[in-house]
Amino acid sequence: SIPLFLHLVIYRSASSSTLPSFLLVGPSGSGKTSLLTLFERGQHAETRTSQAPLTVEVSLPVTTSTTSSQYRSVNDPTNQIHKKLLLVDTPGHGKLRHHAFDSVVKPRNLKGIIFMIDAADISTNSSGSGNDALRQAAEYLHDLLLLLQKRANTKTSKAPTELPVLVAANKLDLFTALPAPLVKTALEGEITNVRSSRTKGLLDSGIGMNDLDVGEEKEWLGDGGEGKFDFAQMDELNVSVSVVGGNVLGADGPDVKQWWSWIGKTL
Ligand code: GDP
Repeated sequence: SIPLFLHLVIYRSASSSTLPSFLLVGPSGSGKTSLLTLFERGQHAETRTSQAPLTVEVSLPVTTSTTSSQYRSVNDPTNQIHKKLLLVDTPGHGKLRHHAFDSVVKPRNLKGIIFMIDAADISTNSSGSGNDALRQAAEYLHDLLLLLQKRANTKTSKAPTELPVLVAANKLDLFTALPAPLVKTALEGEITNVRSSRTKGLLDSGIGMNDLDVGEEKEWLGDGGEGKFDFAQMDELNVSVSVVGGNVLGADGPDVKQWWSWIGKTL
């Protein structure tokens, strides 16, 4: 159940830009609008018609502890104050994805990225290749992670700020859904395929392997080469990827507790 005290305001402008924000991305149909609607329920009856990014201000449920609040008393009023955050929704349509990437490149107090995926829509065959939905999700996530890698490798005097990614494996209420550990394996395997076909594409176009590693800016994701991609390769870039299951809808109601606790730890 969703706490009634959940406070929510929708912005179409850049107001409240100093609040910690989370970017909500992922393929179309993965459940992003449903997640926002879950937070809106009973407060606003508006339906979204715009394809522009939408920012929703939410308060973390008081039952979710944050790293900074764990030594504070539950009755401490500052607990309430520090728990507000912005959730920035982005349209999932491929051609509009640049909205999400713009926000990554120019973060305003960006604390993390939530990549939502429909865990009931992905599968792998016996040879380990994924279906269309898995392929598209993996391409999207690959491109996002590559962008974060480039951001981390951009030469600055400072170490790259942490930017954790939550892969929210949604629709786990459906019996066809892959559990989170299998979503993780499926995505890592398919991202490996995306990476090698991108590299092969570059090689076929006559660009040599050595040309790919131009200075600090690697054009392939993670360790590169022939090996298998796994999310742990992002750790050294201060991008920690967690795959966590849940469901926004379902006969027994939503289960978004683990996502909240990830957000709480990230704040
Ligand atoms: P978006 O394109 O990412 O915004 O996805 P939507 O929020 O529009 O959801 C796509 C479809 O999935 C809708 O028909 C939702 O009702 C359904 N859906 C979303 N979340 C869940 C879930 O947790 N479980 C189930 N069974 N269906 C869901």
